This record gives sequence, structure tokens and C-alpha cells, in this order.
Amino acid sequence: FESIQVGELAKLMGVKAGDLIKRALQLGMPLTINQSIDPDTAAILADEFGYQVEKALIEEEILLQYTPPSPEELKPRPPVVTVMGHVDHGKTSLLDAIRKTDVVSREAGGITQHIGAYTVSLDGGKKITFIDTPGHEAFTSMRARGAQVTDIVILVVAADDGVMEQTKEAIEHARAAGVPIVVAINKIDKPNANPEKVKSQLAELGLVPEEWGGETLMANISARNKIGIEDLLELVLLQAEMLDLKAAYERPARGRVIESRLDKGKGPVATILVQEGTLKEGDIFVCGNTYGRVRAMFDSYGNRLSIATPSTPVEILGFEELPSAGDDFFVLEDEEKARKVAEYRQRKAREAETAKEAKISLEKIFEKL
Ligand code: GDP
Ligand code: MG
Repeated sequence: FESIQVGELAKLMGVKAGDLIKRALQLGMPLTINQSIDPDTAAILADEFGYQVEKALIEEEILLQYTPPSPEELKPRPPVVTVMGHVDHGKTSLLDAIRKTDVVSREAGGITQHIGAYTVSLDGGKKITFIDTPGHEAFTSMRARGAQVTDIVILVVAADDGVMEQTKEAIEHARAAGVPIVVAINKIDKPNANPEKVKSQLAELGLVPEEWGGETLMANISARNKIGIEDLLELVLLQAEMLDLKAAYERPARGRVIESRLDKGKGPVATILVQEGTLKEGDIFVCGNTYGRVRAMFDSYGNRLSIATPSTPVEILGFEELPSAGDDFFVLEDEEKARKVAEYRQRKAREAETAKEAKISLEKIFEKL
């Protein structure tokens, strides 16, 4: 970098501009907050606060490098769907039933491995990606970390039980996230099923079915007996079309960690949802506070992939350390840089932790007083 403003430098280091200026004055450098300083001066000042300028600025450099894609770069991408609903209303059964409609899985004899997310290829070539961790906890904890990966929520409501506490919570979470809801009224095979009653309960909560003049897409299904599953998936595709989901394909990949685990043989393994660009074997990446190189990637059938495009979940090997669900992931060109960004982030995390501890001990002292 050519120069940096004093205020900017202070912000990057997380110190008060006033403190930085005071320290500079003590060192015989009178500065003002808006003044631009050269890298050497910045390095001296940063060192006073325990930073190396190169590391402090590297992340900013990467953020600056990111340019949002232009409209010409954008191409359609499959929707990413999360299944939510009250306990025992059939989320897991629905995900199982959906997996069995997958033409690829039918060809592969239905042998799949659990990787936290999978893409279903429907007859006609359309695709839908499912996050395989049902429940609003996964949804909200990801969102709390700034990781919105879901485009559409399938809300499962059992036709015998009707709207329950967690049904309402799921609706609130989806609304807070601005994610449209497609309703699956499940267990219609049961003798005491009352889908019409469920619809009126949902209408009271503002989810009015299309047939009643509303905008919410709803399907009656039986996850157990595989009734209505394809209709439900058609509705999801219809909802996706209305959202006009697009992403740039021809650029370095960016995405999010869906889940991670430490494998005895393979080491740290994580499922990444690619959200932009194309991920390739051999790519160097930063992921949360760690980094690595894609040594190998696999789909949910255990097939080795050489590339992964937007909305594709892939299991990746090649992390230095285990990342966490919700961590960001982005490809960059050189390994040295990736390592530095990860180190910088680790240090920032440690500092935040220390600051938190300091605050806690201060609070304890005040409590005693
Ligand atoms: P989850 O807690 O929402 O994941 O619900 P599960 O998928 O585990 O289902 C809870 C129970 O409901 C299980 O005993 C399922 O077999 C049963 N179940 C799920 N879907 C159906 C359905 O369509 N019809 C009937 N009769 N039972 C179902
Ligand atoms: Mg379940």
C-alpha cells in the first residue's frame, strides 16, 4: 500500500485513534486523524501496538480485492433449502424421502454418505441443494454468524398435530431471515389427518395458501409413504424461479462451512457450500481462522470431484486445522498469503478473547465493590 490514514490504521488495529495520535506525539510525530502516513511510519506506529503492518493490512487488501460480480457474470444457480418444523413432524423422514427421489442416488443404488448437505438432481435436470441438518438451531446459529446460506425454508407441519410451538418459531426465524416458506403438510396418510385445519391455522399466522388467494405454496405429503414428494419439489422449484437465484461462476470460489469433523485417517474434513465462483482441486483457501489447499473433494455420494460450482456442497480435505460451521471460505492465489491471513485472524480472535476476559474480570471487581 502507498499510504494509509491515521484513523484507518487505528481502526484496523482496533485501537482508539486518540491513543494512536498520543503515542505518535510521544514518539515525536505530531499527526492528525485524517492525515495520510507512509508504510514505514505506519509500521513504526503499528509496532508500538504489537502489530506488524503487513499482517494488519493483508486482510483489508483481500476485502478490497473483492468486487461484486457484474450482471453479465451471473448465471442461474440451484436453490439451497433448509427443512424446519416441530419435533416429530417428519423433517428427517422428508429428507430421506427426498434423497430417494434423486435420480443420481437411484442410479448409485441409494448408497450415500452423510456430509451435511446434498444436491438432488430431479427428472428434467433441475437441481435442489438441501442442508441436511434440519431444525432451526442450525439455521439460527449460522445466521448469528452472518452466514445466511438458505434460500428457501420447507416448513413441515404434521396434519394430525397441526401448528405447534416450534412451527411458530420456525416461521419467525424464516421471516427474520427474509427467507420464503414452502409448506409441507405431512402425514396425510394418517386417519386423523386434517390438512384443511392446518391450512387455517397457518393462514392465521399469515401463511395463506394460494388456493385461498394467498401467496404461500403448500403441498400435502406423506414422507413415510412417499406421497406428494415430487409435487413438493416442484413447488420449491417454482418458489426458486420467483427468487431468480443467480451467481457468478467464472471466478475464485467463496462459500461457507456447513459442518466439520476430525477424521481419524483423513484429518480435518469440512463440508463447504460453494456460493460463488468455481472451486477446483488444488485451490488455496482461507477458511475462518485457518487455511489450506483442496487436496481432494467429494460429493455426498463419495464421488471425487475436480470442480464445484455455486450451490454445490462438497466435502473437502486439506485444512491445516478444523474450521467451524458458519466460517467463511474463500480462495486466494498464494499459500503464503493464505497463511498470513489465517494467522492475522487467529491473533484477532485471541485478542478479542483476552479483551472479553479483561472485561469479565473488571466486572467481577466492580461487583465486589
Ligand atoms: P422429525 O423429528 O421432524 O425429524 O421427525 P421424524 O422424521 O423423525 O418423524 C417422527 C415420526 O413420525 C417417526 O416415527 C416417523 O416414522 C413418523 N412419520 C414421519 N412422516 C410420516 C408420515 O408421512 N406418515 C406417518 N404416518 N408417519 C410419519
Ligand atoms: Mg429429525
